[in-house]
Order: sequence, then structure tokens, then C-alpha cells
Amino acid sequence: MITRIKQLPDQLINRIAAGEVVERPASALKELIENSIDAKADRIIIELLEGGIKQIKILDNGEGIFQDDIKLAINRHATSKISTEEDLYQIKTLGFRGEGLASIASVSRFTLASKIADCNHGYQINSNFGKISDIMPTALNNGTTVEVNDLYHSIPARKKFLKTEATEYSHCKAIFERLALSYPEITFEFYNNNKAIYKLNNESLLNRIEKLFGENYAANYFEILETSPNELSISGYIYHPSYSANNKVIQHFYINGRFVKDRVIQNAIKQGFNGVLHHEHQPQYVLFLQINPLDIDVNVHPTKSEVRFKDVGQIHSFISTTIRKALAQNIQNPLTKEYNNTPLTTIYNDNPKDKYLSYSSLNNDKSYSTYRQPSANLNSSFSNKNDTAELFDVNNQDEAVKSEINPTLGFAIAHLLDIYILAQSNDGLIIVDTHAAHERILLEKLKSQLQQTSNIASQQLLLPIVINTAEELQETIILHKNELLVLGFEIDLLGEGQSIIRSVPTLLSNSNIEKLILSLLNELSQYRNSNIIAEHQEKILSTIACHNAIRANHQLSIPEMNAILRDMEKTQRANYCNHGRPTWFKITLPELDAMFMRGK
Ligand code: ADP
Ligand code: MG
Repeated sequence: MITRIKQLPDQLINRIAAGEVVERPASALKELIENSIDAKADRIIIELLEGGIKQIKILDNGEGIFQDDIKLAINRHATSKISTEEDLYQIKTLGFRGEGLASIASVSRFTLASKIADCNHGYQINSNFGKISDIMPTALNNGTTVEVNDLYHSIPARKKFLKTEATEYSHCKAIFERLALSYPEITFEFYNNNKAIYKLNNESLLNRIEKLFGENYAANYFEILETSPNELSISGYIYHPSYSANNKVIQHFYINGRFVKDRVIQNAIKQGFNGVLHHEHQPQYVLFLQINPLDIDVNVHPTKSEVRFKDVGQIHSFISTTIRKALAQNIQNPLTKEYNNTPLTTIYNDNPKDKYLSYSSLNNDKSYSTYRQPSANLNSSFSNKNDTAELFDVNNQDEAVKSEINPTLGFAIAHLLDIYILAQSNDGLIIVDTHAAHERILLEKLKSQLQQTSNIASQQLLLPIVINTAEELQETIILHKNELLVLGFEIDLLGEGQSIIRSVPTLLSNSNIEKLILSLLNELSQYRNSNIIAEHQEKILSTIACHNAIRANHQLSIPEMNAILRDMEKTQRANYCNHGRPTWFKITLPELDAMFMRGK
């Protein structure tokens, strides 16, 4: 049933976030595609001339407009999508203000033609920069066609804000991609200057991502699917944190099908990626949040790209927790399941399934023709016994030898240049970035201690350490006394710009305590609220871990290296360091053979 168009009452008009919606061809295009989607079209054809400056034409096979409503459609504040104030609080369509067509019609040579299924022919109306014609019959298939010519042509003041054809075109293309991505079930065709840019058939989201952004994007994803009570759910794809390549950054977030750019959401996503994303990388995602329309307000901004949530905290934590969980699961059990048993693959292999091996950030040197991502199930073969053992508890390895003859990361053979651990596994060579791996091990140990006992195990120093602390740092010590205790540090002021460290976390016994404390105090001094450890746990613990992780140029013995390997095998997320860099690689025997062309 087609809903009829009504003029909104003034009262309701006044409640609508008003504003100019058509500032350039791309904004007109957005209004028009959204109208076709709201009209339930499953086929939409878009034709631009000169990036939309000369012409935007859009054809859909939607439900159409009644003859008597065609004139109303281009009236300001006439809409079929809402009629009462209540409707404004539960919007299920993309449009609702009744302004789109009116705005476009007033600044262009405009034609709207529409035919509903019940009628033998269609009707058409024209507007010449706001001068509206009578309605006339026209031949047309079921659906609606809109033509927008010479946008702003007779309005020089506005026209001069239009940029070059190339710029306007790229804005139009971006708008098209956003909408096409959120409706993969709709068939779209998109042309510029008679050249077909996209022809998209009804397909899966993954296929659409691939069509729009290239096959790399369809091969490096982790799927997200999480529902919570109270009608909240999130689905879509996030990309491997190491996957940045040289492609463009894909950050698409939709709420109830509507593309939004929202600070709260962006922050939640960033927090979800916290600890595994390299600081030079940006999180990449195509995510769809479904939420009860009553729990958001989309009537905030004229372009509807911002929303207001009833319960911001709930949304924020739902998003960040979901992403964190997905990354933790996938990164410790890396990438895809098919991968585990795949035969040798090379970085430059063209098989799209293998594209995830080619993280350009990892290696640009073609001479390393073959690499493997860390293989899966690092953790599975080891019981996760409560581990408070010292990292250098070299007895650790005996247990590993007993429990498994072929540990995933093999046995150490050398410490290359005092930077990399080289280890031999049953099928090749393992190379470990010692500092990165150790940092991750420490971080995860600290985190699990905090989780299990609400504080980090600490030990009294036989010889307390006296350090110099400037006045601000002394204040931080007083203010954060309790947080420091939770983190395993007991520090008191001595007066005269000095403080005394009495206890430190057990895990840290052999590190440069003074430097660490100073970094930690600086870190804490940035946070004033009371809940800092909960909120900034990852960052604070990272500081501690980073200061204690083995540095380059620190010589390690074979038993020490084996202890690290065994620790890695039972540490969550051990394949990536706290900054998102990989901690190890394997070069298998067949890969080595290939390098030396053995057997060729
Ligand atoms: P809104 O989308 O906010 O309702 P518009 O000015 O964009 O306002 O459109 C006004 C009305 O015209 C819509 O409510 C809808 O009933 C009708 N309309 C516009 N475009 C189409 C279309 N492509 N197919 C069917 N109806 C349309
Ligand atoms: Mg509209």
C-alpha cells in the first residue's frame, strides 16, 4: 500500500531540524537515491553528466507517486513518511522531512515523473528553478524518474561554490558507494558521462564490498555478528588490524541502514581495536548497527549524518566489546580456518583467498617470496594454568618438552643480532621479535592478574628505591595512591622532592624501576577521574609492559629463549605485539626449498 503525501502541520515543521540539504550535486544525489530506496525500489539506475553538475538522472522501479500527489511531492514539508510528532521519534525511512525534492526543484531545471502500478500511464511535473509547471501525462514504466539539470545554474552565488567536475564526481561516487553498500540486495547501475562505473546486482554484502572496494577487502575480514537484548545488534565486517595496504581506508558505519559519522561510535570502534592496532593504521570496518528507532534521535542534523542515542554508554560498550572480542578470537587463532591446512602460498600469489598474506606493512621486499602468518591454535596445546611464573623460569621449557614434542614455536637455536629469536620447529624456521613478543606476554600476564585478583601481585623490595619526583608528580602519587597499589606499586613521599618505592609488581623484578615509575606517574597524571584503571587499563599496563620487555642488544641464553617461546604459546594474542605488529613469522621447509630452487 502506497502511503499518500501530506503537507505537514506547522507545529511539526518547527520540530524538524531544518537546514539546507542540497549544497552540491552529491547531496542532491543522496536525497534522490534515498527516496528510491524508501519507495522500495529493487533496481535503481543513476546517470550523471559532468559529475552531476550538468545532470543527475535517477530511475527506479519503486512504488511510485499518486497522480494527485505529484505536485505535493515538490512542496516543502510535504511527505508520506511521517504525519504526527510520535512518528518523528520512530523513524524507519531514510527521508522524513519532506524537503529534499523541494530544495532540489528550486535550484535546478527539474523533472519528476512517476507511475504507480494501478495506473495506465505516468505523470510528470517540471520546475524551472522553482517555477513549477502543470502536471502532464507521460509514458513511463512503473516507478519514478527524476532529472536534475544545471544545478545552481541561475544562482551564480551558489554555483561558484561548486568545485571541479572531478571533485563533484568523486563526492557523488562516495555517496553512491555508501548507499550501495548498505543495500546489497538492490540492483544499482551508476554512470558518469555515459560511462558505466558500477553495475551491481542483488548480492551478498561481502560481494558488494568486493565490487566496490576490490577483492582485497573481501579477503581480509573478520565477520561480526552480535545481538544483545533490547533489540540491539551489530553485524558486518572489520578488517585485520595489520591490513592497511595502500588502499583507501574503509570506515563505514550504519545505524538502521543510515550512514552515520559519529564521534561516540568512532571512539568505541577505536577502543575495540585498542592494543592490536598499529598507531599508523586506522581501524577499517563496514558495520551495521540495528537499534530500536525509539532509542535514537535522527532528527539532529539536516543531513541526518549524526544521531543522538538514548543510552550512549550502552551503545559505546556494546560496540567496543564486540570488536575487542572478535579481534581476540581471530587474532589468536589467526585469520581464516581454511588457511591452516593450505599448502605453500606466496605473497604475490593472485589467488584472492591468499591476499591476506600480503600485508604490505609487513614486507615490501620481493626477495622474501614466501611468508606465513603465524599459524593457528598457539594456545590450544597448552593448559592455561594460572601462571605467575617468572619469564625466565627456565624450568618452564621442560614441561613443554614433556607435554609436547613439537611445540608450535619450536626450540631456540640462536638469538640473531640480539634482536630476533631463531627457532627450529618440526617444519621450518621460526623468527620471533623478542621485544615485541615479551611485551605482549607481560601485558597479558598483568591483565590476567588484574582480572583474577583485582590487583597485580607485588613484592617488597629488599632495598627500597628513592627517586626524585617533581611537585606535580608528588601530587599524582597522593592522588593515585590506591591505583598505584592496585598496579602493584607502593610509593610514599619522602619530602624534599623525593619519594620512596617500597614494592613493585612481582613480574617486574629485573627492570629499570625508576624510569618506569616516572612514565607511569606521567601517564596517571593525565587522568583525573576515579575509574582510571578500568578505563585506561590497556594503556597503563602497556606502559608497564613496554618498560619491562627485553630490549634489543640484551643477550639471551637458549633456555631463556625457550622460556619465551613456551610463554608465547600460552599467551592470548601472542601473535601481535601491543602495538599491532606481528611478533613472529615462520618460513617452512618447502618455502626455504623454493628460495633455493631445490627440487626444480
Ligand atoms: P521525504 O523523503 O523527506 O519525504 P522528499 O521531498 O524527498 O521528502 O520527497 C517527498 C515525497 O515524495 C516523499 O515523502 C515520497 O512520498 C515522494 N517521493 C519522492 N521520491 C520518490 C520516489 N523515487 N518514489 C516514490 N515516491 C517518492
Ligand atoms: Mg527524501
